[in-house]
Amino acid sequence: MLRREKGRLIVISGPSGTGKGTVIALLMGLRDDLCLSVSLTTRAPRPGEVDGRDYFFVSREEFERRVEEGLLLEHAEFVGNCYGTPREFVEQKLEEGVSVILEIDVQGAEQVLSSCPDSVSVFILPPSGTELERRLRGRHTDSEEKIRSRLLAAKRECAEAGKYGYIVVNDSAQAAAEEINAIITAEKCKSAYRTNLVTEVLIS
Ligand code: ADP
Ligand code: 5GP
Repeated sequence: MLRREKGRLIVISGPSGTGKGTVIALLMGLRDDLCLSVSLTTRAPRPGEVDGRDYFFVSREEFERRVEEGLLLEHAEFVGNCYGTPREFVEQKLEEGVSVILEIDVQGAEQVLSSCPDSVSVFILPPSGTELERRLRGRHTDSEEKIRSRLLAAKRECAEAGKYGYIVVNDSAQAAAEEINAIITAEKCKSAYRTNLVTEVLIS
């Protein structure tokens, strides 16, 4: 029996409204070796969002306490709110051989890529700036002021896309999910992660 592989960290970023949540939901349906990290945030829940499923919604004081205690793998401030990844859940899943998706902004991704350089990183681009604005507005979840801040942030974020290992365009969400699925499969087959299998075959 071949040894179980360790899980991989999969960092997914992209401008707010580009369709990360939509694509990740489709991706989760394509594989059974993935789980999604639920982030902590100080922002208010949007209609329909559930505490513990979409985010852990906490006060700024609680967020700062967790940062000070070293309980977050990474954290960042985005458009006036704090966001962070609970460390323990991620470490436990990776040990169990389950890969973990982190849907985080570019500041958080930079922290993860420097502390865990073997993470798989994917930047999801919208097909155009006009389409991004249409999607952000179509979601009906943000004020005009927040939409403007998110569009400004989008320009800064897209400029960082080249730092990621992969860029996927979300024109068709299904096609984007299939591309990320292929990326994960290829990453898991890299020889660097499978040389132990060669030894096992040779001694069996
Ligand atoms: P994000 O998680 O990046 O903020 P969402 O997944 O919430 O983005 O998507 C933003 C809006 O765009 C939603 O209304 C969603 O239904 C829509 N959307 C996502 N992907 C596509 C796509 N490929 N084509 C058209 N609309 C999309
Ligand atoms: P939203 O408010 O639209 O849910 O998220 C805003 C931004 O915060 C998105 O770019 C999203 O990827 C990012 N984000 C969500 N969770 C985290 C997290 O745990 N850490 C970081 N750094 N960014 C996050």
